[in-house]
Amino acid sequence: MSWEKSLDEIEKQLLPSHKAQMVFECLECGRTYHIDQFLYTCPSCKSLLRIVDRNFDHLKKVSGQQWRRIFTARRMLNLPSLKGIFLFYELILPCIPLDDVVYLGEGHTPLVQANDELSALVGADFFIKYDGLNPSASFKDRGMASAVSFINYSIRKRNISQLLGICASTGDTSAAAALYLSYLKKGVVRSVVLLPQGKVTSQQLSQPLGSGATVIEISGVFDDCMKIVEELSENYEVFLLNSKNPVRIMGQKSYSYEVAQQMDYDTTDLVVVVPIGNAGNITAVMEGFVDLYRLEIIPQLPRIIGVQSQHANPIARWWRDGRYQPIKVKPSVAQAAMIGDPVSFPKVSQLVSAYFQDRFSVVEVTEQEIIDQMLEANRHGHIVCTQGGESIAGVKKAVEQGLIKKTDKVVVDSTSHQLKFSGFQQMYFEDRLPKEYEIRPRKELQNRPIQLPASASQIAQYLNLQRKSCA
Ligand SMILES: *Cc1c(COP(=O)(O)O)cnc(C)c1O
Ligand SMILES: [Zn+2]
Repeated sequence: MSWEKSLDEIEKQLLPSHKAQMVFECLECGRTYHIDQFLYTCPSCKSLLRIVDRNFDHLKKVSGQQWRRIFTARRMLNLPSLKGIFLFYELILPCIPLDDVVYLGEGHTPLVQANDELSALVGADFFIKYDGLNPSASFKDRGMASAVSFINYSIRKRNISQLLGICASTGDTSAAAALYLSYLKKGVVRSVVLLPQGKVTSQQLSQPLGSGATVIEISGVFDDCMKIVEELSENYEVFLLNSKNPVRIMGQKSYSYEVAQQMDYDTTDLVVVVPIGNAGNITAVMEGFVDLYRLEIIPQLPRIIGVQSQHANPIARWWRDGRYQPIKVKPSVAQAAMIGDPVSFPKVSQLVSAYFQDRFSVVEVTEQEIIDQMLEANRHGHIVCTQGGESIAGVKKAVEQGLIKKTDKVVVDSTSHQLKFSGFQQMYFEDRLPKEYEIRPRKELQNRPIQLPASASQIAQYLNLQRKSCA
C-alpha cells in the first residue's frame, strides 16, 4: 500500500459515521420530541428542553483513548465542516450532515499561560482561554455555529422558504447571531435583534448593524428584552437564537472539549472558572465535561467555579442562601453578564445536583475588582474583556476562600474581546465612570496620551533620554 493510500484510509476513519438519534428532552417532565422541528420549551409543561442523543451509548463502543486519538488526528483534516466546533461532531449535533455545517472560523481558541507577575497578584497559576478570538469576538460564535448549521440543515430538509432569526442580547449574542445568519441565503433568512438601549457597548452595537440585522432597541435591561423574545418565539413563527434554545448549548459545549484537548485530557485537579450571565455558558461547560466523562475521554470531572458581579448576582445568592430569586440588576462593567433572571438557571441547578455536587461553587466579585483585573491582565501581556477580568477576579477570590489550591490547574474563560469594552477603560482612565458602578480608578492603572510638539529633541527631553556617546 502506498503511503498516500494509507493516509486516505486513516482520513476515512476520521470521518464521522455515528448514527445519532437526537431528541429534545424536557428537563422537568422528561417527555421527548423529535429534533426535526423548532422547539424552545416543552409543549406539554413549558419547562426548558435539552438535546440528547438516544444512541449516545453507541459512542461507548469506541474507547476513551481511541476518541482522544480521533479528535487529535482530526485536526489534520482540511475539511471545513470539521475545522471548527464540529471537530467534535459526534458530541455536538450529529444529526446534521457535514454538507450543512456552517463554519466561519470559530473555535480552537488559544489557551495561554498567565504571566508570572499576574499569577502572583492573583495568588495562583492559571491559563486564560481567549474566546474573544472567535469571528465575532466572543464565545457566542460557538453556539451560533451549531444553531445556524441546524437552521441551514432544517431549511433544506424541510423546504423552509422564510425564516426569521431573533434574539435578545447584552451585545455579543446579537453580534454572533447577525453574523452567522448573514451567511445564509438572502431572501430566505432575516435576522432581528433586541437590545436594551444604551446597555450594550458601541462596538457591540456596530456588529449586528454591520451584518445587516434589524436592530430594535427598547428601554430596560436584558431581562426585559428576553421576556419579549420569549413571547415572540412562543406565539409567532420565529427562530429563537438565545441560549434558551438548546441547539445553542450543543455548540457551546465545544469550549470544554477544547480545554480538555489542550490539557492533554488530564482533568485531574482541573478548575474551570466561568463568568455567569444568562447561565447558558456555564451549563454548556458542565454538559461538555459530562459528555467527555461518560465516554471515559477524561478521568474525572473538573471543578467549576462560576463568577458573578455583586451588581448581577442571582446565582451567587442562590449558592449562598440556597434559594433562587430573580433580582434587579445594577450597572456593571461586566455588562455582557448583567442579567437578573438567568434563563438557564434550572439547568445549572440540575447539573450541579446530578454531577457537580462537590465540584461546584460560585464566587462574587466587586465592580472594582472586575475592571482592575482586566487592566492588570492587559498590563501583563493579556487581552481579556471585562467578563474575563471578572473571571480572574474570581480566581483571586476563590484562592482567598480556599477553593483553589496550589496543585490545581486553573483555566479562566475570557469570554469576549477586550476591544468591545474599551469604552469602560476610557471612562476609567478619564475618571468618568458614573457613580452607580462604584468604581474608583486607581491612578497607577490609568493611562492617557501626551501631546508634545513634533520634535525629536523635545520628545527626547520629555523622555529623559540619554544621548548616544558616539552620536
Ligand atoms: C453572554 C456573555 C457572558 C455570559 O454568558 P451566559 O451564557 O449568558 O451566562 C459572559 N461574557 C460575555 C462576553 C458574554 O457575551
Ligand atoms: Zn415537560
